[in-house]
Amino acid sequence: MWGIIATWSMSLDSLITAGQELDLETTAADTVVSAIRQVEDFPFYKSVGYGGLPNEEKEVELDAAYMDGDTLSVGAVGGIKDFANPVMIAQRLSQEKVNNFLVGAGAEKFASAHGFQRKNMLTQRAKKLYEQRMKELSKKLAPYTGHDTVGMVCLDKMGSMVSATSTSGLFMKKAGRVGDSPISGSGFYVDSQVGGATATGLGEDIMKGCLSYEIVRLIKEGKSPQEACNQAVFQLDEQLKNRRTEAGDLSVVAMGKDGQWGCATNIKDFSFVVATADSPKATVYVANAHGMQMRIEVASKQWLESYFAKRSGSN
Ligand code: ASP
Repeated sequence: MWGIIATWSMSLDSLITAGQELDLETTAADTVVSAIRQVEDFPFYKSVGYGGLPNEEKEVELDAAYMDGDTLSVGAVGGIKDFANPVMIAQRLSQEKVNNFLVGAGAEKFASAHGFQRKNMLTQRAKKLYEQRMKELSKKLAPYTGHDTVGMVCLDKMGSMVSATSTSGLFMKKAGRVGDSPISGSGFYVDSQVGGATATGLGEDIMKGCLSYEIVRLIKEGKSPQEACNQAVFQLDEQLKNRRTEAGDLSVVAMGKDGQWGCATNIKDFSFVVATADSPKATVYVANAHGMQMRIEVASKQWLESYFAKRSGSN
C-alpha cells in the first residue's frame, strides 16, 4: 500500500509525480520533500514559498515543518526569510538531536551554515498586491483571509509515514507572527504505527485545539480517518463558537497507516488532493460540511479551471 494526501488543489501537479514515485518505492521522506518543494518553487501560489505574500512590513516570512512518523522526529522553521525551500531546512533540522525548531535569524544562520539555497522570495507580483492592499487598508491593517498552507501526509510501500507543511502564513501578519504550520500537533502530526494529519486555516484557532494531534489520537482510539477528522473539526468549531462567538477557518486532511483517508472543514469548498495505490491517479476533491457530516466530491473540470484561474492568474 502507498498513499499521499495534501491540502488544496495547488498540490495537484506535485501529487501526480509523488504517486509515480511512491509506486516505484521511493520513500515517503523523499517524496514529500520534493512534492512540497515543487509547490514552494511555483511563483504564482500566493501563500507558500516563492511568491508568498509578505507581512505588514513587506517581508516574506516563511514557516515550515517536517515529521518522520517512524522515529517521531520533528524539525521546523518559523519566520525564516530569504531561503528558497523552508521544507528542506525543516527536514534537515529533524535530524538533529536538539535545536529542532529554529526561528528567524537563528534559522537563517543554520540554513546558511548548511548550504541551503538563498533566494529573495518577494516577487514583483506579491509586491504589487502588497501595495494595493496598503492602499485599501491605509487606516487599518487586517490579515488577508485567502491564506493557504500546503500540508501533506504520506505513506510509502515500506510502511513509513511522513508529514510536512510549508506556508507564508497570513498576508499582512505582524513581523514575527508564527502560525500553526510549524507547530507539532497543531499544523501536522504523524505516527507510522497509527496515521497522520495536517491542517490549514486560521493558525491561531487551529492551535487552540491541537487539531492534527487530536485527529491522530482519535485514529489510535479506533476511529477511521474520516470519523476522526469530522469529530476533531466539528468539536473545535463548536467549542470556539460557544466560548468565543466565532471560529476561524479549520480544514484538515488525514491518512491512516493502511492508506485510508479523511478530510473535514468548516469552510465552503475546501479542496484537497489524494493519490493511493488503490486509486493512483492524483484526484482533486472538494469538501463541504453538511450538518455533522462531510460531503466530498471529485472536483469538476469547470471547478478546477476557475480555481486555477483565481489562484494563479493575475489577481
Ligand atoms: N494555517 C496557516 C497560518 O495560520 C495559514 C493557512 O493554512 O492558511 O499560518
